[in-house]
Amino acid sequence: MNILDLFFPKRCVNCKKVGDYICPDCFSRLSFDTEDICPECSRPAISGITHPKCKKKYSLEGTFTAVVFNKTAKKLLYQFKYRPYLTDLKVTLTDLMHESLIQNEEFERVYSGQGNRLLIVPVPLYKAKQRMRGYNQAEILGREMAGKLGLPMTNALLRMRDTRSQVGLDKTERRENLREAFGLKDGLNEEIRDKSVFLIDDVLTTGATLSEAGKALRRAGAEKVWGIALAKEK
Ligand SMILES: [Zn+2]
Ligand SMILES: [Zn+2]
Repeated sequence: MNILDLFFPKRCVNCKKVGDYICPDCFSRLSFDTEDICPECSRPAISGITHPKCKKKYSLEGTFTAVVFNKTAKKLLYQFKYRPYLTDLKVTLTDLMHESLIQNEEFERVYSGQGNRLLIVPVPLYKAKQRMRGYNQAEILGREMAGKLGLPMTNALLRMRDTRSQVGLDKTERRENLREAFGLKDGLNEEIRDKSVFLIDDVLTTGATLSEAGKALRRAGAEKVWGIALAKEK
């Protein structure tokens, strides 16, 4: 036992029971049965693979999500976004993400099939927002996942506009709101060219954010991009 645990005992973020950041009862309330969607039309798609008829020049190959964004998952992610649980919770959350993904056959197929071309890129926050919060939760997840999967991570993208919140917008409005919102950072073209990218975000709702960020990578020369989010909102 870590000496700090005596003074600051870990508590379940959902029910506050002492022991761990997620107790066995609350863990059992998480669901890994996420509904896979096509990132272009947001409709159900087998294994999250982009519908062939929806696929455009710079579309994502598909999306992967780890847990359903239910009440328990929301609480976990909320605590992760807003201090003070950040450092310890990142381990719990990436464990969940990693365990769920490696049990996904399509993910395994992609992961083992892309060889050393794979690279992890997190979805960026707008600079002012990141300054306010102090960190980017997608970047923290990305870095931890990179460690677990043995892949390099590059902070290749820039959010060029302070897009308004997506909450309350419908599918079309979400995509419109995000148009041209992402770009590649200067001098990173060589690093991205011909690479296969796992683009990481915390929550997937319609797939609009991952799609737009993915486009910026494809335009910069990435060969294939898959979107990965920890939680899938219904
Ligand atoms: Zn609990
Ligand atoms: Zn589609």
